Amino acid sequence: MTDSAVLEQSVPLPWQENQWQRLLGQEQAGKLAHAYLLAGPPGLGKLIFARRFARYLLCSDKQKGQPCGSCQNCSLAKQGHPDLLMIGPQEGSRDVKIAQIRELAEFIRLTSHAGGARTVIVDHAHAMNSSSANALLKSLEEPTAQTYLFLISDAPGTLLPTIRSRCQRVQFITPALEDAAVWLRQQLVSGTEEDEVSLLAAAGNRPLYALELAHSGNLEVQQEFQRKVCHLLLGKESIPALVSLAGKLGEKAAVGYLSQISTILIKYLLEERPIAEGNSAVVALAQQLQSATGPQGDSLKAKLASLLEFYELAQQAQQQLGSSSNPNAQLIIESLLWRWRQLPLGLAP
Ligand SMILES: [Zn+2]
Repeated sequence: MTDSAVLEQSVPLPWQENQWQRLLGQEQAGKLAHAYLLAGPPGLGKLIFARRFARYLLCSDKQKGQPCGSCQNCSLAKQGHPDLLMIGPQEGSRDVKIAQIRELAEFIRLTSHAGGARTVIVDHAHAMNSSSANALLKSLEEPTAQTYLFLISDAPGTLLPTIRSRCQRVQFITPALEDAAVWLRQQLVSGTEEDEVSLLAAAGNRPLYALELAHSGNLEVQQEFQRKVCHLLLGKESIPALVSLAGKLGEKAAVGYLSQISTILIKYLLEERPIAEGNSAVVALAQQLQSATGPQGDSLKAKLASLLEFYELAQQAQQQLGSSSNPNAQLIIESLLWRWRQLPLGLAP
């Protein structure tokens, strides 16, 4: 697993520079908002960003826009600072519970221990049920001086509009492949450039997600999964074998690979060779598809249409797997693989 405490030291990460400077500028001008909504796809480090900024606010000897790391507040923050509250779905739960929001309201009412700022981080803010959300709204409506709330969400659209409108939005954006690859290369001790590119492609260019994939030690399983996905399309592999591999890999990552492979096939059909080509089995499959199709005509259009449709399905599956509604991951991957096998690409015997 990724050591987030170590990563937090390097916040702002390269793709978070603008967001960090913006908050820093507001803090230095004494114009921090009472509440922020840190929004953007998962795997971009929004939580570690919030934690680092909270520590910066607590630090009593701020240095060059960073916490000093050695004052009493910084030392306290390493174990859990009494002026910093972090909440999010508890283990085994997908919801932020009303009791946790009540704790938040209570925390806000108290005065600061250290005499400075008080900060609250709500991770997975979209996982609040309606009673939690309404309770939070009350706290947002009655701001307390020197108290700052950071709501973090991958799905800000599902938050109550009244909550969204009371927060200043800080949007996080997926970096370009090249920039993400440079960063990922620095994090990985061993590994070739090919690995980075294929990890990032599977992770939709979200660097922390790619790092997690790398640290899971699943690179071989990943390669095997990609190979077998190709073989499934050629009628040489079975769905249950792939479902079991997807279980080892994590269903979300597995769906990521399916999207990636379908994108590569689409690009080959359009004769735009992608930068991130994936592993050799995928490239071989793409070349086979390209030569079996020819550069134009109805066959090309039909194949492109089915691949695009599959890509859409994979995107929906990703969303389902990331939602708070407790999806059946195995069922999702199984039906996606079934659709994959049925693709009319004229490759199976
Ligand atoms: Zn400090």
